[in-house]
Amino acid sequence: MIYPWQQSQWQQVNQLISADRLPHALFLQGNQGLGKAGFAFSLANALLCKQPAADGQACGTCSACNLLSAGTHPDLHYLKPVAKAKTTSKKPALSIRIENIRDLCETLNQTSQFSGYRIAIIEQADQMTIAAANSLLKTLEEPGRSVLIILLSARSQRLPATIRSRCQLMRFTVPDEKLSLSWIKENSVMQEQQAGPDEKQIKEALKHAFGSPLAALEQLQDAEHHKLIAEAMTAAISGKNSLEYSAKLAKLVKYQVLETMLSWVSDVTKLVNCGPDAEIVNDSYRVKLQTLANRVNQQRLFRFYDQLNFNIQHSSIALNEQLLWENLLISWDNL
Ligand SMILES: [Zn+2]
Repeated sequence: MIYPWQQSQWQQVNQLISADRLPHALFLQGNQGLGKAGFAFSLANALLCKQPAADGQACGTCSACNLLSAGTHPDLHYLKPVAKAKTTSKKPALSIRIENIRDLCETLNQTSQFSGYRIAIIEQADQMTIAAANSLLKTLEEPGRSVLIILLSARSQRLPATIRSRCQLMRFTVPDEKLSLSWIKENSVMQEQQAGPDEKQIKEALKHAFGSPLAALEQLQDAEHHKLIAEAMTAAISGKNSLEYSAKLAKLVKYQVLETMLSWVSDVTKLVNCGPDAEIVNDSYRVKLQTLANRVNQQRLFRFYDQLNFNIQHSSIALNEQLLWENLLISWDNL
């Protein structure tokens, strides 16, 4: 899938293909939620397709395209960080390990099944272990003919410079708001078969997602969760009991709830320090946030902020989540 905000990168790569100057390694860099993986797969499909369309994209109907859509094309390989086998942890650390890279490089060194490109897509390449990165380095230095390795990362500084310097960099940046707005409107209506979110909701989701349209769309689909968190955070000022929400919050993804709560703290801080017109993330709840800002004790607010950060840093520790939300909501209500 080539998204509307990726047109210039798509043109760039197609110019390289037609000039026969496509490098053997590309590094797609940009925030999460900008569709880098979609771009990488479109490029791989286009190179493996037997009769690409005029715009350079795969035809979708040839025998190669059929294998690609079934996920069984022998010349396309995909790696992403995974947990170690036999781990007992509920939330294990994910990484790309040396054995994964060795297997991949071995396969890339074999002859293509269709005498064309052999392509590898490595998602979240920054999660490679040092040994894995060193192992990949050899293949990057001496790639076989018609080999293309596409690395993806949102945190490029974590990737060794030796790897980065051997790839051609392709940057993906946040599209302008107008383009994101129209794309999200179009796609949220299509998916739900009903009126999509309004402009204000979309703008808020985009702020939460640091401007990444795919991440914003996902958030809008999670809007129900945000609504629930907002209800919990405003229960006390609405004369309700916030503790009634702790069991419901315990069913959501802990990290996301904590991050959303953090945005509430930062909004209250801005309203306190910059006045009622301050730019805030949770704009739909401005009136209630202002009520909080008017009465809040700044020292308690900082303590609550620390409490949230502590839990974010230690969010992989398993604990009774209902109790966690009860504690946090009590602190919040007593700000
Ligand atoms: Zn095709």
